[in-house]
Amino acid sequence: EQKYVGDLIILKNITEFKELDSAKTTFISTISHELKTPIAAIMMSLKLLEDQRVGQLNEEQFSLTESIKENSDRLLNITGELLKLTQVETGKLTLSPKVTKPIELIHYALSATRVLAERFGCNIEVEYPEKISKLFVDSEKIAWVITNLLSNAIHYSKENSRIIIGAYEEDKRVEIFVQDFGKGIDPRYHQSIFDRYFRVPGTKVQGSGLGLAISKDFVEAHNGKIRVDSEVGKGSRFTISFPVR
Ligand code: ADP
Repeated sequence: EQKYVGDLIILKNITEFKELDSAKTTFISTISHELKTPIAAIMMSLKLLEDQRVGQLNEEQFSLTESIKENSDRLLNITGELLKLTQVETGKLTLSPKVTKPIELIHYALSATRVLAERFGCNIEVEYPEKISKLFVDSEKIAWVITNLLSNAIHYSKENSRIIIGAYEEDKRVEIFVQDFGKGIDPRYHQSIFDRYFRVPGTKVQGSGLGLAISKDFVEAHNGKIRVDSEVGKGSRFTISFPVR
């Protein structure tokens, strides 16, 4: 038989863990900074290697340098993401907002992913209304978010897939979306994909699991929201939305 005798309250001092956490953030930030210089040097040497004046590369050598280049790009991207993350965690995220047309952000993302989209043979359509309010955002940060969503859409779709990027206004909010017809995401992961380092189990595409977490931080720093609608086998639609002033 169970009998209620009272409550038990356990208090635990977590100062130690908080300190560890902030030490970890500082550590990541320092390492990312330190990595940038040697990676830049590698890329510089690569550029020189591909310069005809240094000497002619044969086909195999050229394809090897291409592979080094791709991987250095990836390294640079990851260190960039880690740095962005530590900015948020240390409260050093500063916004420089200015009046921006949503289409400018979309165009930025389209040009930043052009090469990738061509490589995957993606057909990207733009849906944009005649009238839509301007936004007051840090355009660099929000353009980065949309670029990230578009790059995910390309990576997580089959080749020659259709992708739609667009914007519309509804209930005093501007909504910008990226829709793909790729593999989709199981509903049980719709929350966790926005967590740091989380990747849907079995994901084969290379990645860090940081893009969506940083995107969420950037969007929420603007009082915006990010959400996903997705069905396995049908595709995913990521939407960011901001209140209109
Ligand atoms: P990364 O792509 O580097 O792993 P993200 O934070 O951008 O990191 O994404 C987290 C995870 O969410 C991905 O690993 C992938 O499993 C899933 N995901 C993100 N975007 C899509 C998408 N458009 N379609 C299917 N899965 C996606």
